[in-house]
Amino acid sequence: MSRIVYVNGRYLPQAQARVHIDDRGYQFGDGVYEVCAIRGGMLIDEAPHLKRLERSLGELRIAWPVGVEQLRHVMRETVRRNRVENGLVYVQITRGVARRDHPFPAGNVKPSLVVTARSLAIENYDRWAETGVAAMTLPETRWARCDIKSTSLLANVLAKQQAREAGAFEAWFVDREGLVTEGASTNAWIVDAEGVLRTRRLDHAILPGVTRGEIIPLCRQHGIAFEERAFSVESAKSAREAFVTSASAGVIPVVSIDGGKIGDAKPGPVARALRAAYWGSRQGIG
Ligand code: PLP
Repeated sequence: MSRIVYVNGRYLPQAQARVHIDDRGYQFGDGVYEVCAIRGGMLIDEAPHLKRLERSLGELRIAWPVGVEQLRHVMRETVRRNRVENGLVYVQITRGVARRDHPFPAGNVKPSLVVTARSLAIENYDRWAETGVAAMTLPETRWARCDIKSTSLLANVLAKQQAREAGAFEAWFVDREGLVTEGASTNAWIVDAEGVLRTRRLDHAILPGVTRGEIIPLCRQHGIAFEERAFSVESAKSAREAFVTSASAGVIPVVSIDGGKIGDAKPGPVARALRAAYWGSRQGIG
């Protein structure tokens, strides 16, 4: 079955889908995106993803290409047409097509909308959740507005590639103060030596991860001591546990950082409990 993608009002076989070479997403990375997990054919955490999309669009002063209700429909229809049971739906909105020039185009340029959906081998994530994964640390090289889910991801791409070449699942960016900001495509968490679960507070240095936001109330429900407080690389390396969160991965334990073991190098109880609670609270999967 050929994949069907939605491009600016039409559902097309992927091989026939086109965007213009003057699209500002292609020319400048001038666009935003969202990724929602699909489990059992259902969109997970759709409302907070759409809320964050609205915020990203607002920060970049890009208009909605279609109304939110219509976008919700297109997301579902793309999932349905591709028969995705477990996977993700990807939404990209760019400032649209205009002759290449840095300032925003004058006139009524319509933003471009692309929606795709694809299956994911979720058993890989389940396996990583069982074994735990490795992370490596790298200096923060991204721009000063990482809170915007922009398609400009060059620093993230380079970091992820460096991690892959080093045999690590994720790269954790470290700011000038030696504090971990987040992963190249995940939020970063530790259970520190005192047993407190920590992740950096929201500011311009990190993406407000939807999974992050959904995990926090679960900590309260499960009596897990939690603080929104940044942690240093040293505290991460001497942590009892570490893990990452994202829409596609859920909660994945990190069992080594820069080659050094975290705890006993096995997924810890807090990461396990939160992974189970997160998927469990989303239709009993996980
Ligand atoms: N941080 C970055 C840089 C990301 O790219 C992502 C997801 O793609 C996340 C964090 C996790 O966000 P979410 O939980 O909304 O997927």
